[in-house]
This record gives sequence, structure tokens and C-alpha cells, in this order.
Amino acid sequence: MMTNKIVLTGDRPTGHLHLGHYVGSLRNRVKLQNEYPCFVMIADVQALSDNFDNPEKVRTNVLEVCKDYLAVGLDPEKCTIFVQSSIPELFELTVYYLNLVTVSRLERNPTVKAELQQKSFADSVPAGFLTYPVSQAADITAFKAQLVPVGEDQLPVIEVSNEIVRRFNRIYNTDVLVEAEAMVGKVGRLVGIDGKAKASKSLNNAIFMSDPSDVLKQKIYGMYTDPNHIKVSDPGKVEGNVVFAYLDAFYENKEELDDLKAQYQRGGLGDMALKSLLNDTLQNLLKPIRDKRNSITADDALEVLTEGSKQARKIATQTVEEVREAIGILKF
Ligand code: ATP
Ligand code: MG
Repeated sequence: MMTNKIVLTGDRPTGHLHLGHYVGSLRNRVKLQNEYPCFVMIADVQALSDNFDNPEKVRTNVLEVCKDYLAVGLDPEKCTIFVQSSIPELFELTVYYLNLVTVSRLERNPTVKAELQQKSFADSVPAGFLTYPVSQAADITAFKAQLVPVGEDQLPVIEVSNEIVRRFNRIYNTDVLVEAEAMVGKVGRLVGIDGKAKASKSLNNAIFMSDPSDVLKQKIYGMYTDPNHIKVSDPGKVEGNVVFAYLDAFYENKEELDDLKAQYQRGGLGDMALKSLLNDTLQNLLKPIRDKRNSITADDALEVLTEGSKQARKIATQTVEEVREAIGILKF
């Protein structure tokens, strides 16, 4: 199905990409790149909003994230992979949009609220972090994206973007900006191996696509299950059991999985057997990705990003011109 809808997505270069990214949005993107014009952004400036004191981490992970992209099958011939900081036009848009959203609206955003709590900024929330949904609106609208594959945690942020679009078009009496639709993967939010929160780079509770096989195994065998399921014969709980959450996300034979769940709940199925099944499943999924990743050099990644950023900048520049004209900013 060929349509002219434009897709934009991205990730923060705060670490390697993990299985949450894979099920939440990467898996979707690899399919979408065959059907739509796709832009995939490495959001290094956004990553600085809560890592401003650790730019080294952000810088090194730009290339790592790019390698993860190429390893899972994003193809620079089909999609434009670029780096946010190389497109200053995005920050000009951000400044115009900041006027179109209230501070209280940003403070009430459920995604930002949850992240603020997690990051324990206490009383020193950087203004740049609070306003990242506005910068995300700039990223989306600069490319006139209509489809945004994101994890479920990002839905309220996309809503802010659409509110800005509607306000902008109404106030400046234009149709320059386009609203976007979030597209959430089948597994909306993958839980971390600790079972406490969503898998996340910053919480150190994720399985990374680049994890070596022994690390993968170790993480699986350390997963949170049901603390009351002590003997194999004990009845166990499926809900809140991380091993089942991952099997739900990655084990293809759903009928067999339902049988396993029933057996676990009755008693008679041990955690070790389950973990071994998950280990086989994930080792098979990740081996080709890891092998491909190991064959990609830093120079390969640099070349992809340089070319992609050049192309992306042309489009963003065009949008900024239209936006300036809609607002009525004088040209000098
Ligand atoms: P950080 O901890 O630095 O915020 P992160 O692990 O949350 O990193 P992001 O770069 O913030 O990753 O998210 C990139 C994309 O991946 C977003 O669309 C987000 O919704 C999605 N995503 C992140 N974690 C998960 C998860 N556990 N399950 C599903 N989708 C996820
Ligand atoms: Mg995040």
C-alpha cells in the first residue's frame, strides 16, 4: 500500500536500544519503511535535557543507537536516519511553539509527570525537560509527519503536539502544520526485568539488543517471577510475572503459551523450565541482530548519519520558511 503519509520516530541516545524499543516501535518501523517515507531521528538534544551534565554519554550513544537501527534492519536506502542536533531549524520551531502551550498543561502531562518522579529531580526540574514535548512537536511537524510509531508511554506527548498544531493553524489562520497519529506496537509497553516499571535505558532494567549471549541468559534467569511459587508443584501467578510478559511479547505459538500459563497456574511447571524456553526464544531472535551489529563499523554509522542529516535538514528548512511566513515574520 503506497500512500504519501510521512512517518517520523526517534530515540534518545542515552544507551543502547533494548527489547522495549524493539516491540514498542522498532519492529513497526522496519515494516513501515517499505510502505511510507520514514524519518528516524536520534534525539541527542532531547537526551541532553536530562543528561546535560553528561554529554559524553549522549555523544557516544549516537553511534550506538545508529548501529542498533541498522542491526534490526532499518535501511538507509528506505528511510532517512538523522541526528537532531544537526538540524537547528528544529529549535527555531520549538521557540515559536513554546508560546502555544501553557506551563500548567506541560506540568500535567502524565508522561512527563511519571518521568519527573522517576528521575528524582526534586525541586530542580530543568525547564528544558519540562518542555521536551514541545521540542518533540517541532520534530514531528518539521517533517509534516502523520504517523508516529511510539511506545504507549509517549501517547500523551503526541497529544500535546497535536494541540500545538491546532492552535498554530487557528491563530495564524493557516494549514501549514499537520496533525499526527501515534502508532503503538502490539505490545504497548514492555516491563523491565525487575517487574517494577517499563524497561528503560535509564532504569537499568532492560535487555539490550546488543547484550552478549551470556548476559542475556543471566538477565533471563534473574527475572522476577512469582515470589510465592517456590516448589515446582506450587500454583503460580501469571499476572505480574516477567517471564510470561516476555513470552507474551516474543513467543510466537500463542496456543502453546496459553497451555503453559494454565499449567503454571495449576502447579507443576517450574520457573527454570519457563526461563529456559524464554532463553531459547530470545537467543534465536537476538543472535542475527547481534551478529549484524558486530559487523557495522563506526564509519558505516557516521556515513549513514551524515547523509541522512543532510536530507532531513532540507525538509525542515522548507517547513521553517512556511512557518515564518504563516506567523508573518519579516525577512531580512
Ligand atoms: P530513557 O530511559 O533515556 O528515557 P527509554 O528506554 O525510555 O530511554 P526512549 O529513547 O525514551 O527510551 O524511547 C524511545 C521510544 O521507545 C519511544 O517511542 C518509547 O515509547 C519506546 N519505548 C521505550 N521503552 C519502551 C518499553 N519498555 N516498551 C515499549 N516501548 C518503549
Ligand atoms: Mg524514555
